[in-house]
Amino acid sequence: MSAISIPPGLIQAFDHVDRLAVLTGAGISAESGIPTFREAQTGLWSRYNPEDLATPQAFQRDPRLVWEWYAWRRELVSRAAPNAGHLALAALELRFPEFSLITQNVDGLHQQAGSRRVLELHGNIRRIRCSAENITVEAWPDTQEIPPRCPQCGERLRPDVVWFGESLPRQALESAWQAASSCQVFLSVGTSSLVEPAASLPYIAMRAEAKIIEINPQPTPLTPQADFAWQQPAGVALPALLAALQNPFTSTGALSA
Ligand code: NAD
Repeated sequence: MSAISIPPGLIQAFDHVDRLAVLTGAGISAESGIPTFREAQTGLWSRYNPEDLATPQAFQRDPRLVWEWYAWRRELVSRAAPNAGHLALAALELRFPEFSLITQNVDGLHQQAGSRRVLELHGNIRRIRCSAENITVEAWPDTQEIPPRCPQCGERLRPDVVWFGESLPRQALESAWQAASSCQVFLSVGTSSLVEPAASLPYIAMRAEAKIIEINPQPTPLTPQADFAWQQPAGVALPALLAALQNPFTSTGALSA
């Protein structure tokens, strides 16, 4: 059994807190075996830079390549299971009267872990939509063509995700902004804090005088601004946080795991 130390004062920052906003990034799914964009890609895809594949220009240039990269990632996601970090967030949702889970992830693992209301800023890799009409297509077309065509208009289908340079879904973004500006604690988990506009959310919360907690084993541009920077993997820190909030007697000391 190893002790996990919680930064002093972090649990007390939740005293009398009703409104918690959480922002997650690729790091929370790393322990489920889904690589972050900043980790080297493996196998076939190691020579590609994800930031060059996840763009509308890349899809225009080589739709087959981009479709196949997403098919590979979809396969990874379909074999993955939520980890202790996702599960702890699903449990935390039940403890706060106002809880917002904002994610930049496209893997759907929060929902799989039981989180009921998830604001997906970057879409979901498990869905497809028409590249011309922006309409989500429910039934996957039964065809050999890659990428498949929209059954309505014949244009190419694409993953229902937000690519670099594209706008975010308006409603999810507005709800995320609202949550950040009204929360009392803002928890940033597993995100590099580099990709806008999500990277601005903790600063919105800061202006509204929320306490900022970051969980990330590596420092990010947010780290020096955060009230608490907890440099642990999400799958370690979040269950420890949940346990400490459930049991106030452990709240000031180290926890066992
Ligand atoms: P990122 O890849 O830029 O950064 C990931 C961050 O997670 C890093 O700061 C890293 O230090 C941290 N991290 C790594 N392991 C961790 C762990 N075990 N616990 C906590 N933190 C850990 O990811 P990003 O900031 O989310 O943004 C990049 C974009 O990549 C997003 O737009 C997102 O849509 C996309 N993306 C999503 C997935 C996914 O859905 N799982 C995977 C890869 C990329």
